[in-house]
Amino acid sequence: MSTAAPPTILLVEDDPALRTALTATLKAAGYRPVPAVDAAEASRWFRHYRPDVILLDLGLPDQDGLTVIAEVRAAGTTPIVVLSARNAEAMKVEALDLGADDYVTKPFGIDELLARLRAALRHGVQSRGSPPVVTTGALRIDMGRRQVFLNGHAVSLSPKEYSVLSTLALNLGRPVSHPDLLKSVWGSEKADLQYLRVFVGQLRRKLEADPERPVLIITQAGVGYRLADLLG
Ligand code: CA
Repeated sequence: MSTAAPPTILLVEDDPALRTALTATLKAAGYRPVPAVDAAEASRWFRHYRPDVILLDLGLPDQDGLTVIAEVRAAGTTPIVVLSARNAEAMKVEALDLGADDYVTKPFGIDELLARLRAALRHGVQSRGSPPVVTTGALRIDMGRRQVFLNGHAVSLSPKEYSVLSTLALNLGRPVSHPDLLKSVWGSEKADLQYLRVFVGQLRRKLEADPERPVLIITQAGVGYRLADLLG
């Protein structure tokens, strides 16, 4: 299987200089930063990228950062570290009450920020008991309930079809090799590749607008298949 992807950090900060500097710092520290300039973009990227942790400035141009905390908490347990201005004690308390996990006060040192991030990530991994929900384009795969939705409508899949799709979904955007898929679905990489092609064909007929020109389940010639990482 491919190696684990770097943790995704949704960085919500409207100050361009700080956002740029933090993006570079997070990248250099081995994370995958996704910058957002306001609450609307934060909400969009949160739903699309399912970040491992959120770094959140509370003073945003369109809406209060507190509304972002409320939305994220309504969806689950993604850790939130608040970037708070000095003298914003009341807001900090409100942020923690709403479910933020931690805060750093501006101006902060990079070492302190990275330490808080590591702690938040550890906390996130421990509390993430429930399996993920993967969203790409019009497709949503709820691993906990083993249910698949296309444009909000439940799609009926056979256990093997679901197994192929969920294996691809757990590697969203990355190719999964034929041997890895066979092993994951049939328990042996010696299983017949032809079966895999049949199940992928069935999945495409159920999920793709045009099964002859798939945009979700992509063939990686000579490698395997990839579930495309598309905006919703
Ligand atoms: Ca701000």
